[in-house]
Amino acid sequence: MKYIDEYRDPSLIRGLLTRIGETAGSLADRTVTLMEVCGTHTQAIARHGLKALLPGNLRLISGPGCPVCVTSACDVDTALYLAGRENVTFATFGDMLRVPGSGGRSLQTLRADGADVRVVSSAADCLAMAEADPSKDIVFMGIGFETTSPTVASAILAARKRGLTNLTVFSVHKVVPPVLQALLDDPSLHIDGFLCPGHVSTITGTAAYERIPASGRAAVITGFEPADILEGVLMLLRQIAEGTFDVEIQYTRGLKTEGNARAREILERVFRQSDAEWRGLGTIPGSGLAFREEFGTWDVRSRHPVPEMPAEEIKGCSCGEILRGVLSPEDCPLFRRVCTPSQPVGPCMVSSEGTCAAHFKYS
Ligand code: SF4
Ligand code: SF4
Repeated sequence: MKYIDEYRDPSLIRGLLTRIGETAGSLADRTVTLMEVCGTHTQAIARHGLKALLPGNLRLISGPGCPVCVTSACDVDTALYLAGRENVTFATFGDMLRVPGSGGRSLQTLRADGADVRVVSSAADCLAMAEADPSKDIVFMGIGFETTSPTVASAILAARKRGLTNLTVFSVHKVVPPVLQALLDDPSLHIDGFLCPGHVSTITGTAAYERIPASGRAAVITGFEPADILEGVLMLLRQIAEGTFDVEIQYTRGLKTEGNARAREILERVFRQSDAEWRGLGTIPGSGLAFREEFGTWDVRSRHPVPEMPAEEIKGCSCGEILRGVLSPEDCPLFRRVCTPSQPVGPCMVSSEGTCAAHFKYS
């Protein structure tokens, strides 16, 4: 297939649903729980109403796949602190602006109060800003998984080459394999299979998911169109029905088994894995990215020592449980009543691919 429409073809979708029904039927004595790890999958599933088309013994739950949503309250407060420093131009991606920190303040409210907070589409934009005005102290808040972080590493390599030291990065990047391990180790979760993220996998390849089949669960790297997602679900069900687990690729048009070695090499030149705090999941060893010593000049903490941030979790917000797939948005007492996309209380309602926002918009 060459065109997007082909991945939405009703006859193809009907055929996939029939085969899903048959395979789920062979597992009728049990409920099968599948987690989509990626925020883009969550949004596509909600947008195309796929849950309603699936058999009753099949449960799709959302995971910690939106980098905005998993940014800890403490990191949001640190961002607010940095953005409020004198002479700082604070830059980040648009979604981050409306995430509330302790006390309900956000980068957006700080900007309204006069702070120089800017939305950029990449770290390369910050390079240009740093070059244009050497008297300005540019701080880039880097969030995202393996798809985004190599581009930030590449910007840092360029900054070093050009001798730019008025650009620093607040690295809140995260890596996927350790959080998957945390989900696999959580005895309160009963996940039978994972729809693995297509974009992250273009960098990591299948190696990022090897622990899933080793733990007796199914794994399929899946694309983002309705036919992709349904075919991914079917492939997962087949693994579960046959009891033979592997990392399969449904998204063959988007990635290679080995991923992108060049991007990984750039990433590893600049960053090393470090412990990181995830909203709702706590500190996960090796799940973040810190600067290697050689690149310490570009670490925001080398220019702006950050005090301890005793962050307050938002009262009544269930984002933590939502991100672990334990609760769905309707279970949160604030959903729709107090928390809406125009007045978000928690991060899952902020970004379009957050679970609560996707559910609000399409249910
Ligand atoms: S909402 Fe924004 S941050 Fe979250 S997955 Fe989508 S693009 Fe990424
Ligand atoms: S509805 Fe709002 S407060 Fe509740 S979990 Fe979702 S984002 Fe958090």
